Amino acid sequence: MKYLILIFTFFFVNINFSQEKKIFFESPKNIYYISSDLHIHSVFSDGAVWPTIRVDEALRDSIDLISLTEHLEYQSHLSDIPHNNRNRSFQIAGGYVQNRPIAVVHGTEITKPMPPGHFNAIFIDDANKFFDKKKEPLSFIDGIKEANNQGAFVFWNHPMWEANRSDGIAKLDPIHKEVIDKKLLHGIEVVNFDTFSEEAMQIALENELTMMGTSDVHILIAWDFNIEKESYHRPITFIMSKNQTIKSIRDALFNGDTFIWYRDLIIGKSNNLKQVIENNLEIVSKGYGYRDRKVDILQVELINKSVAPISLNYIGQYTFHNDYKFIELKPRSSKTIYIKTKKVKEKVNLEFEILNYVVAPKTNLKTIKTITIE
Ligand SMILES: [Zn+2]
Ligand SMILES: [Zn+2]
Repeated sequence: MKYLILIFTFFFVNINFSQEKKIFFESPKNIYYISSDLHIHSVFSDGAVWPTIRVDEALRDSIDLISLTEHLEYQSHLSDIPHNNRNRSFQIAGGYVQNRPIAVVHGTEITKPMPPGHFNAIFIDDANKFFDKKKEPLSFIDGIKEANNQGAFVFWNHPMWEANRSDGIAKLDPIHKEVIDKKLLHGIEVVNFDTFSEEAMQIALENELTMMGTSDVHILIAWDFNIEKESYHRPITFIMSKNQTIKSIRDALFNGDTFIWYRDLIIGKSNNLKQVIENNLEIVSKGYGYRDRKVDILQVELINKSVAPISLNYIGQYTFHNDYKFIELKPRSSKTIYIKTKKVKEKVNLEFEILNYVVAPKTNLKTIKTITIE
């Protein structure tokens, strides 16, 4: 068994990017935005599909990194698919990847009643070690300690789940505070499947937990998320990694370097979203003039390079010749606006609030773009 696991670990040290991949968001030269879905189920827990289908689905969605996080404690197909080896799901999916541009990391879902609830441990070595000698699942604390012993990144799943919290409000119980204080918990889902929790976001910010968004898919991804329309895709966590190695990706997760694309929202820490907007919203001066007239009105082009819309709310002092302060840039589009700067200028600062970029509960990202005019 150990031998097999070592082989798999060795195979997936790097993501193979030799094939053409979709660029969701432009990133700085020395940073890779690794697209990930790190909460997925197959028939090896309570999912409805074989693990290889998860790899194919992820490839179709241009996902770089997945983890099959089968429930340790909840095994609805066990009588039909008996398996003593809880690493099988990872081994099947990992073995199926071969040279394709995707990596599978080993994970599992520690599944306890609330409190504490459900927790994913990813980058584990061996899911069988989460059981005692009597083959009973370890207690929550022992399980989360075992995950940490294996070097896992551990995150709290769906803290807003209405089956666990009837008011849908994510909040910390003493057991959660304990594992945060002991540094056994590293992240939290602020997005799970079709839910987004501002309260979970607040918990992440106050406790320095990495923000995560996942599909938690059980059936086919295309049945849960209509992939034809980019505005309704699976939630994707982008990991802002220095290179494409699993080590660097893991480090970035521990550092909190993520942002989440959920429906039309971009969710993450302020500094992370600042980098995203800097690299995906470009504003270019086209000089002074309006149509054929040489007048003192500045023409600029707003360019959205990303797959998500950018909903601008201009908060500066200028007024526009055609538009109001709300300007919606569709995915991968551009729009020309005319700014009445009163005097002809060489440099103009434009301040925007980005209404669909969320950096804290009820708080949008703000950005200032400086435009140099030739
Ligand atoms: Zn769960
Ligand atoms: Zn789950």
